[in-house]
Amino acid sequence: MTGLLIGRSAIVTGAGQGIGLEIARLLHQHGARVVLADLDKDRAESAAYSLGGAAVGVGCDVTSETDMAALVESAMLASGRLDIFVNNAGITRDASLRNMTLEDFDTVIGVHLRGTWLGVRAAANVMREARSGSIINISSMSGKTGNPGQTNYSAAKAGIVGLTKAAAKEVAHHGVRVNAIQPGLIKTPMTAAMKPEAFAATEATIPMRRAGEPAEVAGAVVFLASDLSSYMTGTVLEVSGGRGM
Ligand code: NDP
Repeated sequence: MTGLLIGRSAIVTGAGQGIGLEIARLLHQHGARVVLADLDKDRAESAAYSLGGAAVGVGCDVTSETDMAALVESAMLASGRLDIFVNNAGITRDASLRNMTLEDFDTVIGVHLRGTWLGVRAAANVMREARSGSIINISSMSGKTGNPGQTNYSAAKAGIVGLTKAAAKEVAHHGVRVNAIQPGLIKTPMTAAMKPEAFAATEATIPMRRAGEPAEVAGAVVFLASDLSSYMTGTVLEVSGGRGM
C-alpha cells in the first residue's frame, strides 16, 4: 500500500541515517514532502537527495531553539503547511552509574528530552493554527523496562512518554495528535557500535528471535502519521519483536 500521505508535509529529525532516514524514505514513498533534519548538514542533504524529488535536507541541532524554529519555517516555506513532525534524533552515552559522568547524563537528556520538547512545541504551534497534525516521538523500550548502563538514556526515553501524553492532552481539542513509538533492538549505526556478544545476547531475548529493521519502525510511523490512526492520541506503540511486552 502506498499513497497514504499525498499532499502532506513532514519533518523528520536525525534523518541523516538509521531509523530516521528510513522513516523519511517511507513517508516520502507515501507521497509526503519531507524535510530531513540532521546535526550533520551534508549528511542531511545527501540523504534527501537519495530520496529523489520533494525532499529537502537541512542542518539542525534539536537542542537549539533557534534551529528548531528555522526547521519548522523551512517546511512552511517549502510546502506552506506542516502535517507530520517526527522527533527521532538521538544519541547514547552508555556507562555504569559508577562511571557515567554528569556530562554523559546532561548530554543525553538534552538531545532526547529538551530536543523532543522543542520539537513538540514548535510543531504544535503551527499545527494548532491549522487544526490538524500528527506528532510522533521516538522513545525506546529502554524507557519502559530500563537498561543497565543506560540510566541517562532510559530516563530520557521514559520522559518522552510523559511528555507525549501531556502534550496529547493539551492539543487534542485543536485536532493535533501526539503519539510515541518504543523500538526494541533495531539494526542501525547506533546498535552497530554495540559489542557483538552484547548484541547477540540481547537478540536471544527477543520472542521473534531477531533484531528489527529500521523500515519496520518506519511502518509504525506512517500508520501514526496517516488517517489510519485518526482516533489515536497519547499512545505508545512497541515495535520490538515482542521484547519487553
Ligand atoms: P543513529 O545514531 O543511527 O542516528 C541518529 C541520528 O540522529 C544521527 O544521524 C545523528 O546525527 C542525529 N542526531 C544526533 N544528535 C542530534 C542533534 N542534537 N540534532 C539533530 N540530529 C542529531 O540512531 P538510530 O537510527 O538507531 O536511532 C534513531 C532513534 O531511535 C533515536 O532516538 C534512538 O534513541 C531511537 N532508538 C533506537 C533503537 C535502536 O536499536 N537502534 C532502539 C530504540 C530507540 P550525527 O550522527 O551527525 O550526530
